[in-house]
Amino acid sequence: MSHGNTPEKRGDFHGGIHPEQNKLQSTMESSAQARMPAKLVLPLHQHIGAAAEPIIKIGERVLKGQKIASADGYVSAPVHAPTSGKIIDIADYPIPHPSGLSARSIVIETDGCDKWIEYKPEQDYTETNPSHLRNIIREAGVVGLGGAGFPSFIKLNPGSQKKIKTLILNGVECEPYITCDDMLMREEPQSIIAGARIMRHALQADACVIAIEDNKPQAYESICKAAEGIDGLRVALMPTRYPQGSEKQLIQVITGKEVPSNGLAVSIGVVCHNVSTAAAIYRAIHLGQPLVSRMVTITGAAVKRPRNLEVLFGTPIEELLEQCDVESEQIERLVMGGPMMGFALHDTSLPVIKTTNCIIAATRKELGLDRPVMPCIRCGACADVCPVKLLPQQLYWHSRAKEFDKAQAYDLFDCIECGCCSYVCPSNIPLVQFYRFAKGAIWTQEQEQKKSDQARERHEFRQMRVEREKLERAAKRAKKKAPRPKKAAPVDGAKMAEKMRDEAMSQRDSAVDARKAEIQAAVARVQARKKGTATKPDQAADAAAAVTPPKGDVDKKDGSSAAKDSNEQVQ
Ligand code: SF4
Ligand code: SF4
Repeated sequence: MSHGNTPEKRGDFHGGIHPEQNKLQSTMESSAQARMPAKLVLPLHQHIGAAAEPIIKIGERVLKGQKIASADGYVSAPVHAPTSGKIIDIADYPIPHPSGLSARSIVIETDGCDKWIEYKPEQDYTETNPSHLRNIIREAGVVGLGGAGFPSFIKLNPGSQKKIKTLILNGVECEPYITCDDMLMREEPQSIIAGARIMRHALQADACVIAIEDNKPQAYESICKAAEGIDGLRVALMPTRYPQGSEKQLIQVITGKEVPSNGLAVSIGVVCHNVSTAAAIYRAIHLGQPLVSRMVTITGAAVKRPRNLEVLFGTPIEELLEQCDVESEQIERLVMGGPMMGFALHDTSLPVIKTTNCIIAATRKELGLDRPVMPCIRCGACADVCPVKLLPQQLYWHSRAKEFDKAQAYDLFDCIECGCCSYVCPSNIPLVQFYRFAKGAIWTQEQEQKKSDQARERHEFRQMRVEREKLERAAKRAKKKAPRPKKAAPVDGAKMAEKMRDEAMSQRDSAVDARKAEIQAAVARVQARKKGTATKPDQAADAAAAVTPPKGDVDKKDGSSAAKDSNEQVQ
């Protein structure tokens, strides 16, 4: 392990900003356990990928850590009971999502016992093959806890052809207000380091770098201490800058390499995971415990006692606000995530899910809502800070005019929605909202196009089938109407025998006639020699022909004797 107190930078990224941090408020006291609510609402879709499928029934009693919904497909994650209790409903409930929609959820009435299911830790992960480790992590329902929610086992499976040089553990937490990773690094550094070693083994990575920004000196010291003496593990202190915690930007700073547009980090031999995910992987492997809770920052000017709480999934946000002494009447907006990339929630009864890292109960003053939105003055400040080197102003015009093709031509989908452009805009234009609107509209159009293509394909297939059946029916009808071939007359055995006999007799007569002609020709030749006059063969033949009797005049028996006599004469 190597570390120093000088911030390091191997590469750099374009733009970025230094917004007011507002992190101190929630790190003034140690984290605590959130109170156990009477009811937990667990959406089956708390991650990227397909929603999980329930495997329990209403009325069933469950233990803490018991799997209650299975992953449905490869990109999916199971859901486990966060505490013991009784299943009281499986139905649609509002979920914390920008859409504000509801989704299928399992509701548990807690029994207060918090009784764990029997779990089985791995004895020695270094003796376990990476594939088995990934399977345990998958079954434990571990997903990226940095906010993305991508199933972690997939990112730990780069494929046998890909060599991973560097595993990066992201402890940057660059977005203002959020401090859950900071507190975890201060309080549970051993879990994070143990998780990092497991992940390195699963990836067979050459080295591991834990990246921390220099606005978290306590976390940095704590992690350095826990990592002391571990080969191939480095702790990197980074100069604070937003959005350095974004995966592509962090990789560029740590390795000096750029992840290609539309490409994955694995293509340049790098895999990046969040520090909280590392701690969850440690619990899954060393303790055998599935993911049932996480650290959440409760903060904002409307919260009198901002801090971090370890929260069971499914806990209603209002319970956390109450525990942190919120002044409800002061809340202008409730945000899940940070002020730059988070989204507004419309109901305090919504549950905490796997991707809930922060809840901000913000006041009007705090949000700067008094600043009016003005027209774009084409100052170009937005382009100066864009970490992806886009032209935010062009994206804004085209998104606003619903010219989605043009917005895509300006690489709309490369935008990471970091909000740097909105932050610096002197006209206070909510630029990111326009980009989200355009992306959503394009996505909807694509879905509709896909549906209509599928409907067209189904229709064409049906037409083909109907046409084929029609042809088959016509062919059957034509076959029925075709005249039947006449049957052969029954064979008369006697007539047939007579006919065959006549044919045989006729053939024999012809043979006898030919033989007689040969004999007579030979007799003529002999007689001619006796007389001393040589007769040419063709003359003899002519003579024979001249004496050949008409067919049928020769007695068959006599013919044979004559032939015998003439043969003797010739010899
Ligand atoms: S920063 Fe705002 S005003 Fe300036 S060009 Fe960009 S969108 Fe226009
Ligand atoms: S939100 Fe998008 S366009 Fe704006 S600065 Fe970030 S990446 Fe660039």
